[in-house]
Amino acid sequence: MAIPQKRICLSPPHMSGYEQEYVSDAFASNWIAPLGPHVDAFEAGIAKYVGSGAAAALCSGTAAIHLALKCAGVRRGDWVFCSSLTFAASANPILYEGALPVFVDSEPQSWNMSPVALEKAFLDAKRKARLPRAVIVVNLYGQSADMDPILTLCADYGATVIEDAAESLGATYKGNASGTLGKFGMFSFNGNKIITTSGGGMLISDDVEAINKARFWATQARDPARHYQHSEIGYNYRLSNIAAAIGRGQLCVLPDRIKKRRKIFAHYYSELARFAGVEFMPEAAYGQSNRWLTTLTIDPDIAKLTVNDLMDALADEEIESRPVWKPLHLQPIFADYPYYTHGVGESVSDRLFENGICLPSGSSLTETEQGRVIQVIKDCLEHRDKEQVGFFYGSNGGNSHWLNKEAVLGATSTN
Ligand SMILES: *Cc1c(COP(=O)(O)O)cnc(C)c1O
Repeated sequence: MAIPQKRICLSPPHMSGYEQEYVSDAFASNWIAPLGPHVDAFEAGIAKYVGSGAAAALCSGTAAIHLALKCAGVRRGDWVFCSSLTFAASANPILYEGALPVFVDSEPQSWNMSPVALEKAFLDAKRKARLPRAVIVVNLYGQSADMDPILTLCADYGATVIEDAAESLGATYKGNASGTLGKFGMFSFNGNKIITTSGGGMLISDDVEAINKARFWATQARDPARHYQHSEIGYNYRLSNIAAAIGRGQLCVLPDRIKKRRKIFAHYYSELARFAGVEFMPEAAYGQSNRWLTTLTIDPDIAKLTVNDLMDALADEEIESRPVWKPLHLQPIFADYPYYTHGVGESVSDRLFENGICLPSGSSLTETEQGRVIQVIKDCLEHRDKEQVGFFYGSNGGNSHWLNKEAVLGATSTN
């Protein structure tokens, strides 16, 4: 019997110890409810870290995107452009407002919004007289999109830029913090992000008035009166003082977390990049990624291995991995909306989804654990071409399986 191995998760929360001190302070003052001094200090801390004029702490990153759209004046029937290769939360708030999404492909250099595809989308929208009110640009897996050409296009066509920087807190673009390039930016502190509050988000902008308006909407849109009076639809979107206390502790160690995630990437790269058919997500020369998740693609024709096979092999060894985001234009709920590709008849995001995989990248990952992950991947890559004997094994009532030799003769040790 093999000794059960500790499960390796993709990106688990990583507490520093400082969080508990801030949380204890919140308990000592009985400041448990929403809002409070830790919320104010967390907002100020993030604003200072990224260099933005104002910040509003919210209960999720999704709420931040929703309020950014409202701040941008998006209304029912408006069009909003959005990166296709992303999590559904980037685009769901467009539908909350009754607006209509248009999806934009990635470019191969950064995996983020292609300025070429964006221009196609604008030209077509102009012809059809349905220019978008806003454009949501996603900074995938910790890397900024190529913002300059995107900002120029959006300025030319009069669209407000919202940066979904949920995954890219601490990354840079030409020396500026990711999330601060657009009119609005947002971060997520969901449990799997580079820092977490157990759940939470932050809306940022240099427009102090807009951020104040977002705070108003986020606290049930209560008009200034003694009694409860409302002239607008409000939301219960604010962050609790306890969650903000955790966030303050996490913010203390953000630079360490970035350093560690980049080191994890570098280690995977040094061990695996030499294999034919393996391509890591590139780091564009214009900035620094926080390497939130190490992601790579495997060309099945060259490597003789699909990402699905690799995910199965990793799962067998109690290692969590994940496909690259399924592009939103391929999602059933968004299937009816327009999509513009980077190449002619060729979708970059489709290919990244088909061949992409995210590896365990949490900042608490030990070298031994990472060694385990690397060994499984190496075993798969080294043995596939030579050892895929694929003899037919078993024939019990249709439950037959194709197995490779190792699976039959006993799995290789990964310790
Ligand atoms: C996590 C994430 C969100 C949503 O953030 P929540 O805090 O989970 O609501 C939005 N966009 C992207 C790209 C994300 O990764």
